[in-house]
Amino acid sequence: MKGKMKVQNFYEPLVMKLEEHDIPQISSNEVLIKVMACSICGSDVSYYYGHSPLGTADGKGPLYLGHEMSGVVVEVGGIPAASGLFKAGDRVAVNPVQQCNACEYCMRGEFNVCPNSEVIGVSVNGGFAEYVKVKYTHVYKIPDNVKFEHAAMTEPLACASNAVKRLDIHLGQDVVVFGPGPIGLMMVQLAKASGAGRVVLIGRRDYPLEVGKKVGADVLINTSDLKSRYFAEDVSEAVRKALGHLAPRAIVATSNMEALQGALLVTGPASTIVYFGLPGPEDKLQVPMLEAIQAERTIKCAWLAPLVWDSTFAAMGTGKVDLSPILTHTFSLEEAEEGIKFMKESKENKLKAVIKIGQE
Ligand SMILES: [Zn+2]
Ligand SMILES: [Zn+2]
Repeated sequence: MKGKMKVQNFYEPLVMKLEEHDIPQISSNEVLIKVMACSICGSDVSYYYGHSPLGTADGKGPLYLGHEMSGVVVEVGGIPAASGLFKAGDRVAVNPVQQCNACEYCMRGEFNVCPNSEVIGVSVNGGFAEYVKVKYTHVYKIPDNVKFEHAAMTEPLACASNAVKRLDIHLGQDVVVFGPGPIGLMMVQLAKASGAGRVVLIGRRDYPLEVGKKVGADVLINTSDLKSRYFAEDVSEAVRKALGHLAPRAIVATSNMEALQGALLVTGPASTIVYFGLPGPEDKLQVPMLEAIQAERTIKCAWLAPLVWDSTFAAMGTGKVDLSPILTHTFSLEEAEEGIKFMKESKENKLKAVIKIGQE
């Protein structure tokens, strides 16, 4: 498709400009998508403030950020057109991590650790633009009843879904979730939908904890605010008191290492812990090994979202996961930079922000 489009072009930390550029030209294995919504991820905030480098060759811009997007197909390359997989007008979401499919990891379906992945909005132009081109293998149709602004959050939900899958919840098992951010609040719902008994949600502020209650958390614990009615000084004791025992499962959805360390304190023998955060390069977990071996502990990490996209769409389409309480703010494409700053600097209560781009 020929023409111009508006984009937010990220040049270097704190420099992002609203510009007009050519609509990207697709090749035979790509699909052109009119972006309807693109949510702001913590990593977009981190790129904008220069806390982490981009995935480009030199780690720098210019690049259109945004990797959590939904939209409408407007043009289909020769290969997906011939197979009938996509047509103009299809409502879709994008898996931004476009693995190579050729390396030893991809051969085993371990796409999340493919070293050759091209990541939309991180290493190639993303969704803070009116149009984006995507390999057809990474475009999926969304359920009819899912709104674009919720479908934009498919990627983080898929990541949460992979983490909960790795938690391996047996029917009725109690689960502790650390970190009531957007991902943690998705995990509360996914844990319940996966058969968890009671879910204990642990955080540092009452506002997101109480959203957690709305989406299914049974017990709230605030570890930091002395004035909170959920405050508990000793997290291990608080979990034991609430559940009657230590938890068999804990999942950590925060970069805060204290939370991961805390997961060791709230879990009992034969327990499983899953870590889904972004630690600093020097962060380390201290594990008392004698206790760990005698308790036969399992500690896993979860990274990205391999092989969980179908169940993620099903979770949204069937209402097993409700994203409305998590989506608290929307911005326009013109306001994208303001939105990123808002997510970092504002003291207002907030969880997830979506940039609404195309009009329906
Ligand atoms: Zn993200
Ligand atoms: Zn690969």
